[in-house]
Amino acid sequence: MQFSGKVAIVTGAGSGMGRAIALLLAKRGARVVVADLDPPASQETVARIRDAGGDARYVQVDVSRPEDAERMVAFAVEEFGGLDILCNNAGINLAASATETDEEQWDRLMAVNVKGVFLGCKYAIPAMQRRGGGAIVNTVSTAGLRGFPNMAAYNASKGGAALLTRQLALDYARAGIRVNGVCPGVVDTPMTRRFMETHGDPEALAKSWEAIPIGRMAQPEEIAQAVAFLASDEAGYITGVLLPVDGGIMAG
Ligand code: NAP
Repeated sequence: MQFSGKVAIVTGAGSGMGRAIALLLAKRGARVVVADLDPPASQETVARIRDAGGDARYVQVDVSRPEDAERMVAFAVEEFGGLDILCNNAGINLAASATETDEEQWDRLMAVNVKGVFLGCKYAIPAMQRRGGGAIVNTVSTAGLRGFPNMAAYNASKGGAALLTRQLALDYARAGIRVNGVCPGVVDTPMTRRFMETHGDPEALAKSWEAIPIGRMAQPEEIAQAVAFLASDEAGYITGVLLPVDGGIMAG
């Protein structure tokens, strides 16, 4: 998997999986736009890419805001001359049942996890069409494939992102734009650590993870490998796929 000459945007690249994806794509030769809310964390990702000999720039975005999504794509085109790869990875989580979820929380999860994917694609696709094609990889979740207790808004948002991925794949296949999703299970990231801290019963949560068939959570780099594959020319006949990268959770 080589990305020499390719330009990639990775959202949520200041942390966790987004950072791992940005580092891997850059290592393989892509010029990377690190798009995230958090400037210091994103500058750290950019610095790591540059220290490793790669090329990256930071743009501050809230993926739920249309003007930010449009500016993010324009930034990639202005700085690097076009756009080939979009990784819609930014996302937020909430451990709550439907009755415990207030409307504001519901709206925010939908705005970031579903609308953010829609907006990224809305502005990236025309730029990709000008290059004759491209690849979009959305970080969905096993929570986009089945229900999990105490995750009403998150489950619904990831279900939306999953079907949006499939829908987009149909509309843009003939334009040479492939749209796929990765569905991680549990990954060792700051999001997971925060989730454990705010969960009502962290011990029960940790115990439930012992049931992961592979017997451990994933490292962000393991998810990045799957994203890079789906973004690469080696996956040229793959579109509309939601790939579990979950240590076997969805097998059971
Ligand atoms: P993370 O460590 O929290 O990193 C997410 C990054 O996205 C953070 O830098 C965050 O910035 C940024 N972000 C949040 N909202 C944003 C917005 N509106 N606009 C731009 N950037 C925003 O999370 P992660 O665990 O790497 O998760 C990455 C993706 O994987 C998410 O879509 C998540 O739902 C999904 N996922 C995670 C797991 C897991 O086990 N961790 C499993 C399945 C799927 P701030 O820190 O400033 O908020």
